Amino acid sequence: MKTIFEKIVGGEIPSHKIYEDDNFFAFLDIFPKKKGHTLVITKKPFKNLLEIPKAISDKYLQVVQKIAIAVVIGTKADGFNLVMNNSEAAGQEVFHVHFHIIPRYKNDAVDLNPGTHEEYSNPEEMEEFKNKIVNSL
Ligand code: AMP
Repeated sequence: MKTIFEKIVGGEIPSHKIYEDDNFFAFLDIFPKKKGHTLVITKKPFKNLLEIPKAISDKYLQVVQKIAIAVVIGTKADGFNLVMNNSEAAGQEVFHVHFHIIPRYKNDAVDLNPGTHEEYSNPEEMEEFKNKIVNSL
């Protein structure tokens, strides 16, 4: 069975796409810890970091760095968290490997534990955040 993220890559489920190349795909998280929260996934559905072949894992951080720079510039963040949950015990809910890039601001009091998130005010605002990041790539 396909993971929800494979369906996003294949366009069966809509997403706010930030970036795509042969191996990787990035899009906005629908339940952002902070607006602009972006996920960077491998196109192939590896379960977690331990399963990725070296040829792909060697390239992963370069792509994540490129997108993190765009997230920080586009959201005017003071910094960001780079998070990856590997396995259910570590809080992973979608078993298709992904880095979270979460914009952070001084004293923003974001709780990185599961259960809390921000909401986009409306679909247009989410689209605006996507554009701000894409235009900063
Ligand atoms: P994790 O707990 O690390 O597996 O994170 C999974 C993330 O995927 C969560 O932050 C969800 O908000 C996010 N997510 C789940 N479904 C979608 C979707 N259809 N579009 C965007 N993000 C999603």
